[in-house]
Amino acid sequence: MAKPDAQRDAQPDARPLAYPYLLALHGGAGSIAPSFDAAPFHAALRAAAAVGEALLAGGASALDAVVAVVAALEDCILFNAGRGSVYGADAHQEMDASVMDGATRAAGCVAGVRSVANPVLLARAVMQSSGCVMLVGAGAEQFARDAGFPFTPPEYFASPARLEQLRRVQGAGASRQGHSGDYASAPLDEVNKLGTVGAVARDRAGNLASAVSTGGLTNKRPGRVGDTPIFGAGCYADNASVAVAATGTGEHFMRSVLAYDIAARMRYGGAALADAASAAIGERLAPIGGQGGVIAIGRDGALAMPFNTSGMYRASVREGQAIVSAIFQ
Ligand code: ASP
Repeated sequence: MAKPDAQRDAQPDARPLAYPYLLALHGGAGSIAPSFDAAPFHAALRAAAAVGEALLAGGASALDAVVAVVAALEDCILFNAGRGSVYGADAHQEMDASVMDGATRAAGCVAGVRSVANPVLLARAVMQSSGCVMLVGAGAEQFARDAGFPFTPPEYFASPARLEQLRRVQGAGASRQGHSGDYASAPLDEVNKLGTVGAVARDRAGNLASAVSTGGLTNKRPGRVGDTPIFGAGCYADNASVAVAATGTGEHFMRSVLAYDIAARMRYGGAALADAASAAIGERLAPIGGQGGVIAIGRDGALAMPFNTSGMYRASVREGQAIVSAIFQ
């Protein structure tokens, strides 16, 4: 039986306290029409970046910063995570989230949870006190109650606009429910242009961390889990290379082991972050039909945010510089 804190026994790298902090976050990628009202999205992305920056500037860890940023995005109805999660085929919302600490490679994730307002906080609790890396469904819910997370009723997540989005996708005969087994051919959130959320950071100690959270895909088959809680696919952090948070057609990110592909290109191939990230998307994800993008921060403080969709909601901030947000290429 593993000790509850087994993952914390690993010794973090000893690193000097001389690194400028750096934070990046995303609010999903997909087919985004240039005509939509972008202002609320920029405001929400910047507000979340400010939450993380305040923590990093105060000396908080990258892990604390990415969890706080993702929790802030989960609380925002604009994004497909936490409160704003999309509906699955059975008109329920099931959420997945993950967090990984690059200093120790401790990791925790949850999948298929329905009654936790901030799945990323539960993922962190899994990492820190469950003795496991992954908890799903009823077991994750039970762990949440045992760990003191209040039951959050379906009304908290209820959204007439999201339900309408589901009905439209179902009315259009889209295949995401999996009758054809082909989730990924449907465009990402083409109706409301919303997406998964994620954050990566490097703190002043030079430690990296990543966190990701999602409601998955509209009209997904009940029980379907994407890349978000799969380490090496949608989330990865290792001080030896890079922190990555992904968004896109999860099945393709899993089949590409996309986040770890970037790390491996850097660690074993000596690639620079920008080259590793764009090669992973161009040479591994795209050829099998994958759509989406990543935000990534390298151990050297490099930042890359490539995507192969028309847009990806994103923001970043580097110590001493202003917060920058963007949506299109
Ligand atoms: N990657 C997520 C999933 O497949 C969806 C997204 O990023 O929008 O569940």
